[in-house]
This record gives sequence, structure tokens and C-alpha cells, in this order.
Amino acid sequence: MLKVDNVTKYYGDFLAVKNLSFEVKEGEIFGLLGVNGAGKTTTFRMITGLLDKTEGTITLDEKPIDYNATDKIGFLTEERSLLTKLTVKEQALFYGQLKGMTKNQVETELDRLLERFHILEYKDRKIKELSKGNQQKVQFIMAILHSPKLLILDEPFSGLDPINVELFKDVILEYKNEGRMIIFSSHRMDHVEYFCEKLLILVKGETVLEGKLKNIKDEYKKKNIKIIGDVKKDELLKIDGVLKVEKAGIEYIVNIKEKNYVKNVFDYVKKQNNIEKFIVEEPTLNEIFIEKVGESYEK
Ligand code: ATP
Repeated sequence: MLKVDNVTKYYGDFLAVKNLSFEVKEGEIFGLLGVNGAGKTTTFRMITGLLDKTEGTITLDEKPIDYNATDKIGFLTEERSLLTKLTVKEQALFYGQLKGMTKNQVETELDRLLERFHILEYKDRKIKELSKGNQQKVQFIMAILHSPKLLILDEPFSGLDPINVELFKDVILEYKNEGRMIIFSSHRMDHVEYFCEKLLILVKGETVLEGKLKNIKDEYKKKNIKIIGDVKKDELLKIDGVLKVEKAGIEYIVNIKEKNYVKNVFDYVKKQNNIEKFIVEEPTLNEIFIEKVGESYEK
């Protein structure tokens, strides 16, 4: 288990991360979210031992993260961190041996992963000659080459087409099912919803929301009603409990204060014509994120 306990980081006088605590268990994908500058990269660097904490403790399987423990961690950084003049194989040998693998282990594992990512033919090509998506595949392979127990993924899908996003999703789920720990960070809330049962949102280094996605959604009272039919936006807006109405294509999305107000909207809708759809939905993580982050900026 990874345990981050009351961790604080100052850069000089600047407080970048404040009293951060969370745990990631084997087989869990944990979402660490925040706007730009919230403190995510700082946190990842402290976990991977690249940066000293000011206060607090971080342990992996109950041991502080020292040089040896970093061999158990894989880190896919948001920015490219490949030696682009090297070939894929040279990069793997360099990186894998740094992580304590033998030459043979690197070669066997590299072939397996290149095949899994459908890029075996690029093994002896210089990285700078590869497309952006294929470079992202190589970067992902480097993060998992040494079979880490803890994998940190920062915007893993950047530069990928939809087919390759699906491939990456499959590999990430395989990793989870093998009982590894994964920290997942992305600005794409739909991807976070897809993977993460537990998450944490940072704003200016402070935790503004933490817990299981299901509980977070249950506690967030607002709901959306999706309607297709002959309804009018101004009439919907007059109904008690309706906060906002948007039209997306042919669909109206009616945002209500809480579940109890569904009836009011339903009473109006049933008197209208050509109603094809009336569905009550949970809020999206995107809506919750925008509201929570917005509230904490107002404080
Ligand atoms: P992004 O989503 O943009 O990558 P982030 O959540 O990863 O953002 P961090 O890179 O951790 O954010 O930065 C957190 C805060 O710490 C920012 O205000 C940043 O300017 C500041 N910061 C980061 N590194 C340093 C440093 N070496 N010295 C001083 N301040 C720093």
C-alpha cells in the first residue's frame, strides 16, 4: 500500500502542498486531480523520491521511499521525458538497467510490450522519428518496463487517437487487475470517472474533496434531467427547484437543486407534447469538479 501522510511542501516561502493525506491499495486506481498549478506534479515528485518533502511521511508497503523503493515505481510524466536521439531499444536498455534490470530482462520485456502496443517494428528506430502517439506508447512502455508495483500516470492519453486510447485503457485495467497500485491524473473527467473508484481534488495545494466517487456523487445533491420534446426553456426555468437549463442539440438538460424537485419538472413535462425522453441523471464528475474548484477560489 502507498500511504501519503500529512505531507507538506514549501518551495522557499511558497506553500505548494499542504497536509496532504491519502492511501492507494493494491488493485486500486486513485485519481489525483486539480487545476494547473494545484500541486500534482510536486506530489508525484515527492512520491517518486525526486523531491524532498518539507513535512510528513510517504511509505510504500510500510517502508519510507528510498532509492531501492523507487525501482518499484513507474512514472509516466505529462511532459515527454525520452532521449529522442536514441532508438527505442537503446532507450529501454538505458532506462531498464537504471531500474536494476539485466540486459536480457530488458530485451524480453521490451519485445513483449512493443508487441502489446503494436509497435514492434519501431524497436530500432530513433525515437525522434516516431509520431507523437507512438512516442507516447514508448513513454508508457518505459514507465512499466520494470514491472512497477506503483504506477503514476499523468495525462497518459495525451496525443493518442481514440483507438489507442482504448488500447491504453485496456493495459491500465490489466495492470489494476494484476493487483498493482495506480495513481491516475487527468484533466479529462470522463477518463477519471471511467477508472477511479477513489479520488482527491487539490486546489492551491489543499485538498478540497476526497473520497469514493460513488459517495461524492451521492452527497452532491444536484441532479440533471434530460428531456427531448416540445418544452420551453423559459417555462422550465420558472419551475421551483430548477437552477439552470441548457439545450444541447435536440436535448434539454435541466439542472435541479435536488431529487425532490424532479416531480415539479415532471408535472410540467407531462402536459407538453411529443415527449420522447425524460431521464434523471447523476451529476458528472466534471460538474462537481468545476463547482468544488470554483467554490474554493471564492473563499
Ligand atoms: P499542472 O497541472 O500545470 O502540471 P500541477 O498541479 O502539477 O500543475 P505543480 O507543478 O506541482 O502543479 O506546482 C504547484 C505550485 O508550485 C505552482 O504554483 C508552481 O508554480 C509551484 N512550483 C512548482 N515547482 C516549483 C519550484 N521548483 N520552485 C518554486 N515553485 C514551484
